[in-house]
Amino acid sequence: MADKVLVCKDCKAEFVFTESEQAFYKEKGFDNEPQRCPDCRRARKQQKSSGNGGGNRDNNRGGQRGPSKKW
Ligand SMILES: [Zn+2]
Repeated sequence: MADKVLVCKDCKAEFVFTESEQAFYKEKGFDNEPQRCPDCRRARKQQKSSGNGGGNRDNNRGGQRGPSKKW
């Protein structure tokens, strides 16, 4: 095996798919070569993880209840 030069799908930059990475992919059972350069992969990961941040207001409505008395 040797290092491969691939072209990133997103930014069209060339990046090296190294021998050790190829071995890693093989070990994981991935058939496909990476489509994106490490930068774009990282960027996508970050987008994903911060994608679902919604407002958390109105979370504590209701507040106090009076003590329930049973007569
Ligand atoms: Zn890229």
